[in-house]
Amino acid sequence: MSKSLCKFRRTEIVGQIQQIQSMVEAPKYVCKSCARVANRASFLCKPMEMDLKAQSSETVSDVQKKALKAQKKRNKKLKKLLKEQKKLLKKQDKLVEKIERSKYSLSSKVH
Ligand SMILES: [Zn+2]
Repeated sequence: MSKSLCKFRRTEIVGQIQQIQSMVEAPKYVCKSCARVANRASFLCKPMEMDLKAQSSETVSDVQKKALKAQKKRNKKLKKLLKEQKKLLKKQDKLVEKIERSKYSLSSKVH
């Protein structure tokens, strides 16, 4: 059916991207010669079964906790950014008002 992932030419990849995606989805094998991954040994030139247990020494809840923490941090940052943005907007409003006023006074001077 399909040739191994390792044999794809750079120029072929875009055209075969759908197939490639299905080949690398939930990978179980890693290629010993070029470090590609695939869910079937036949997709690789030197396949080796991945040791998935060694890969994730952390428990799921640990990972989730970390993700939550990171998200909270991001939210804080976002809130800060929003505050700063509001401040800047206020400043901008004031500036615009000033400019409008000076324009008005200028034009009134001309007339
Ligand atoms: Zn390979």
